Amino acid sequence: MLPPVLAYHLVDRRMDAGIAWITPKRFERQIAWLAESGYRSLSLSEYLRRDHAAAEKRVVITFDDGYRSLVQYALPILSRYHFRATVFVIAGYVGRPNLWDVKFFLPRFQHLDWGELRELMQSGWEIGSHSLNHDYLPALSDRQLRRDLSLSRQILQEQLQAPVAHLSLPFGRGDQRVYRVAHEAGYASVSILGSGDLSSGNPQSAIISRRGVYLWDSMRSFQRRVEAPPDSKWQYWRQRAISAFSLGTVMVKSVRG
Ligand SMILES: [Zn+2]
Repeated sequence: MLPPVLAYHLVDRRMDAGIAWITPKRFERQIAWLAESGYRSLSLSEYLRRDHAAAEKRVVITFDDGYRSLVQYALPILSRYHFRATVFVIAGYVGRPNLWDVKFFLPRFQHLDWGELRELMQSGWEIGSHSLNHDYLPALSDRQLRRDLSLSRQILQEQLQAPVAHLSLPFGRGDQRVYRVAHEAGYASVSILGSGDLSSGNPQSAIISRRGVYLWDSMRSFQRRVEAPPDSKWQYWRQRAISAFSLGTVMVKSVRG
């Protein structure tokens, strides 16, 4: 069985962050359970190389958006259990507040800056792209899409002096055109939320189905998420419902231009 790939967003103590966040305490309980159950972490590159035996318990931990609180909360917890993660960064918002998020009734959160991203890399974390401006990529023109995916990768590679091989799609969703342009821009993998529609076409970049972890997850539902086989119907419908909610943000964004 393929190792599960988990998708987190914000790990923070603040109570006012919408749905895609989790407290440090709960995050630590989940990581402790993974460690006690014999799981070890893989980077996304290791996952793609399949360089572990099938019987070994492995998990890939990813974070979208690249919030500064990762250095404060997630990094020390993961280091304590000898886990590493991959963080997907919005290239146009490094070191800035999350002004891309139009949920204007929510307070602002700061993104990691370049120094903090280098600190994560020194701890064995991998850095990927989460686009340039967190736009809903299927809505961009061909020209905008090519620019977004190439430029975000180029900015990250130049600033971090390291190859950037992985892309995670804003709102967890893409289509065949997005997958094709991502491949042309040099990405080896594209991470989505849920299993997506991979029925048509055969994208050359690997499409990575991730399992989102959310505020309302109990320890039991987290364990089920980790242990469920890939593409289980339960995972699929659950993630569809969450995506429908987050697409509300996309619609607000389009209306406001
Ligand atoms: Zn995001």
